[in-house]
Amino acid sequence: LLKDEPVAEGKGSKAKGFVFDFTDKCVVVTGGNRGIGYEFSRAAAKAGARVAIIYRSSKDAHEKAENISKEFGVKVKAYQCDVSDSEKVNSTMEFIDEDIGPITGLIANAGVAVVKPALELTAEDFHKQFNVNVLGVFNSARAAANLWIDTKQGGSIVITSSMSSRIYNQAGPGKPLTQVFYNSSKGAVSNLVKGLAAEWAQYKIRVNALSPGYVNTDQTRHMEPEIREWQAQSTILGRFAEPEEMTGQAVLLLSDYGSYMTGGEYFVDGGKLAW
Ligand code: NDP
Repeated sequence: LLKDEPVAEGKGSKAKGFVFDFTDKCVVVTGGNRGIGYEFSRAAAKAGARVAIIYRSSKDAHEKAENISKEFGVKVKAYQCDVSDSEKVNSTMEFIDEDIGPITGLIANAGVAVVKPALELTAEDFHKQFNVNVLGVFNSARAAANLWIDTKQGGSIVITSSMSSRIYNQAGPGKPLTQVFYNSSKGAVSNLVKGLAAEWAQYKIRVNALSPGYVNTDQTRHMEPEIREWQAQSTILGRFAEPEEMTGQAVLLLSDYGSYMTGGEYFVDGGKLAW
């Protein structure tokens, strides 16, 4: 579906253009202002969609939205909203729908990672982790679904989960540092997808999870060099991904080519699970 060859050897995607036509679509990307979400926003705009970027506290989200808008000649706007606040998510989604909608797709991508040994984790850490990664995803998905149920238009929801819904070893040899709350939150959303897909198919709403392997973003910058190297070598491709390498699967799931895909979890992990 991409015009150019995907790369296997390194430095990110060299794909130059999409055959997807999103000119009648409007896509909301939570956490769309940086990291993987930023590339999701760019990819949707590149395919011709109007894009709404939801951010929490970043200072440059509006500027970034403007830059994407100029780059691809489509409407791209940023909206501040903490996804863990369900009232605010509902009102923001309604506002976006009026402002640049009708919304046709959602990438519920905003996420945080609490990285601590299990014995040091607190109840506060639990709430911090699950309020964004699980409740925030649910709030976003439900707000979009409510709009689509009202209009009977249907839509597609892509939830950014993680390969850590399946893989727990994110440490290096002899360094048992894990992310048990983070990994559990991703296991939770990968399951959430199946329930939402089943309940909302009657409204023409498809729900899928995209589960990245390691991607070079702020979230992985804290990793110690030897753990990073060990983890990179434990994928078939022998490296971390660049954020834009997640976009092909997301765009496919949002597009009409993805019309038979629902309730699924799609791993974009450089072969980590297969290794
Ligand atoms: P980043 O840390 O680079 O960016 C996180 C994004 O989420 C930011 O845009 C941030 O907004 C937003 N965000 C965080 N909390 C909230 C909130 N309460 N309300 C609204 N927005 C919020 O993350 P990545 O790009 O690395 O990750 C994106 C997704 O991919 C996450 O769900 C992550 O768990 C998942 N993932 C990442 C992997 C990786 O290796 N990087 C691997 C597998 C999955 P702001 O800038 O305003 O704070």
